[in-house]
Amino acid sequence: MSAIDSLPPLREVIATHQLSARKSLGQNFLLDLNLTAKIARQAGDLTTCDVLEIGPGPGGLTRGLLAEGARRVLAVEKDSRCLPALQEIADAYPGRFDVINGDALEIDPLDHLPPPIRIAANLPYNVGTELLVRWLTPKDWPPVWQSLTLMFQREVAERIVAQPGSKAYGRLAILAQWRAEAKIVLSLPPGAFTPPPKVSSAVVHLDALPEPRFEADAAVLSRVVAAAFNQRRKMLRASLKGISPDIEAHLTAAGIPPTERAEQVSLEAFCALAREVAKA
Ligand code: SAM
Repeated sequence: MSAIDSLPPLREVIATHQLSARKSLGQNFLLDLNLTAKIARQAGDLTTCDVLEIGPGPGGLTRGLLAEGARRVLAVEKDSRCLPALQEIADAYPGRFDVINGDALEIDPLDHLPPPIRIAANLPYNVGTELLVRWLTPKDWPPVWQSLTLMFQREVAERIVAQPGSKAYGRLAILAQWRAEAKIVLSLPPGAFTPPPKVSSAVVHLDALPEPRFEADAAVLSRVVAAAFNQRRKMLRASLKGISPDIEAHLTAAGIPPTERAEQVSLEAFCALAREVAKA
């Protein structure tokens, strides 16, 4: 019997359902249920929430979330080979777990969940960053979700919490810290996963702020920071040329020297610049 529920150990689940890890789907599984319960605890109080899990795989994190008392878990998994293993979890937790077989980049199940919603995922990092940006940039704020608890490569996690002046500072730091409180809550060595990835990982927890730290339009801010950091070594008046023909005037109006480089510019100043660009 496993540590947290009456279901078989994950190694057995993987053997029974022949879930050999597929590189193309970024499959590095967490098989230690004590660890998945620990990650689930980082998501906060789940007892009053529905949880959206992306990429449950054989269900290690799912079992952690349910054992930690999640009111209900809805999962989106692309690999249909995982469905029989996930059905066993659904049977063990009647009425509390459902799976949608599909691509999380194409389906948005957030509308089907009653708030408050927490989101938890251990995903391939490129899918994770794409979804993170989507979750952080809806037009209106606050969003339907209350918190995000997401596994990333350590280096990506550091980009999310980075401060101006550091090499890791960029689009992810700005979008995450603009509308959320982001922190690294756990670090995991490659050996925590089966098979082990090449690099270390970290869990980032983001709590949605009731309102953004500074006023700005999400689409304009996204566009400005993407351009600014795309050519991060250039002066902003050059890297942002494509944003507006009057970019020098907008930079000056926002209090940013046009010769400044993106790395040195604060979140507050980027928001001021986005407002100037939107006004024009
Ligand atoms: N959550 C499990 C765990 O922690 O052991 C599995 C983690 S594994 C790193 C990533 C999972 O995401 C795999 O099960 C994979 O099939 C799934 N996945 C990959 N891309 C996906 C996508 N676009 N939509 C939904 N699931 C996806």
